Amino acid sequence: MRLSDLTDQTSDALRQAGAYIDDLTTPTVRLGVTGLSRAGKTVFITAFVNALTDHSADPAIKLLNLPGMRGFLEPQPDDALPRFNYEGHLADLMAAPPEWPESTRHISQLRVTLEWQPTDWLRRQAGIQRRLHIDIIDYPGEWLADVGLLEQSFTEWSEHTARLARDAPPGPARDAWLAFANKALAGGRQAEQVALEGARLFQAYLGEQKAAGRLQPSSGPGRFLMPGDFEGSPVLTFCPLDGRLNEASDLEALVKRRFDSYKTLIVKPFFEKHFSRIERQIVLVDVLGALNQGPRAVVEMENALERALAAFRPGRESWVGRWISPRVDSILFAASKADHLNRQNHDRLAAILEKIVERAQTRASGAGARIGFSAIAALRCTEDVTRQGRDGEDDLNCVRGTPVPGQTLDGRALATDQALTVFPGDLPTDPLDAFEPAVIEPGSLSFVRFRPRLETEAAAGDGTTEGELTVQRWPHVSLERVVQFLIGDRLT
Ligand code: GDP
Repeated sequence: MRLSDLTDQTSDALRQAGAYIDDLTTPTVRLGVTGLSRAGKTVFITAFVNALTDHSADPAIKLLNLPGMRGFLEPQPDDALPRFNYEGHLADLMAAPPEWPESTRHISQLRVTLEWQPTDWLRRQAGIQRRLHIDIIDYPGEWLADVGLLEQSFTEWSEHTARLARDAPPGPARDAWLAFANKALAGGRQAEQVALEGARLFQAYLGEQKAAGRLQPSSGPGRFLMPGDFEGSPVLTFCPLDGRLNEASDLEALVKRRFDSYKTLIVKPFFEKHFSRIERQIVLVDVLGALNQGPRAVVEMENALERALAAFRPGRESWVGRWISPRVDSILFAASKADHLNRQNHDRLAAILEKIVERAQTRASGAGARIGFSAIAALRCTEDVTRQGRDGEDDLNCVRGTPVPGQTLDGRALATDQALTVFPGDLPTDPLDAFEPAVIEPGSLSFVRFRPRLETEAAAGDGTTEGELTVQRWPHVSLERVVQFLIGDRLT
């Protein structure tokens, strides 16, 4: 071996060891992003990562104006977690025409590292760089509801879910599920087939409840609504059983075993390995979607948030309270998609979210972390427009954007090739009115789904290929507040 080889190898090894030590000494903040399905998690993470790694798209985020600041993606620390598909989601938003990316269906992770020069002169002279890893963990809010399941036996869970199904309004899936649950079931060799059929019907019933905004705080299991990587696996092939009706004890033994496996193999590892290590959390809430469906949906949302809060504030006697100590020290509740409303209404939206969470909080027990509220739009798709009111009436606070295909307004199909001005309605000044059927009638607010709108620019190509597309401007609502709340104290 030549000496130069040796020095190369040694310096490589030293470099690698340096990187390793550096990695160990770099502080890390683990940031959880959650919310029920379609709350806006995917779009939020894509916008947040873009803001951290491409500061030119919004120089107004002052916190990121520290000297020498640069942000870049690095390999994530957990080899067993899927990577958040940042590049794919960004490409969808930058496509022509732009498309919304595919929503969150399972847990995923991404590491962004920030590097900047320290603010104090001495350290800067010494050439010391400051670094921070931000590990973003995206997971469906539906999974948080399972915290309540850990406290229940199979029999308790079966009785509880049977009561909920009996009290639920009729619907094809609910009726089919009850018909199945109320008959004597076969066991023996047929047990597996019966379990499969039961799981399918029970899942369809939960899906129907969810679509109608009628999920109760204790409805679950969460993976029946958002299976993640366990879709179709035996650990999700169970359903509640009414033991009094069923003599098929081998069927009962099978589904009971799977119910226990669900808790041991899915729920506990999720809380132990991932949830317990989250330090900062953003909970995205589609308040506007609920307001659009009327006050009953707002109350349902309050229930759903109560389920989420129960996981963050476990009682000492609960499984989570006994076995893991959640580390989360800050939770930001964010009403997403605020760009559906003119900015005159954004504070009202945040105030309604605060009321929804406040009521849920008083019901959830335990001491809390630092909590914040904000109305945000991770990607603003509209401009504010004011329309003059007719005959002395107040001016109308409108928004203007280009609808996605399939949208209607007052029964009319909307064109997708031109921008449209919409008056979405005004939110009540008193946030408590959001819970009053007499004040907000279902359908009195009109929210149109708009196309994403990013300003992009193609670099000059080399004659044979097109130049790379870059984001010139990323419009949003209040992303700087989110950055401040979630990582502001770590950027010094
Ligand atoms: P997820 O299920 O929580 O991952 O939700 P997504 O991030 O996929 O968002 C669901 C849908 O909400 C998107 O397809 C968009 O239609 C809409 N959406 C999300 N964020 C925004 C936003 O900032 N502005 C607007 N106008 N729509 C948004």
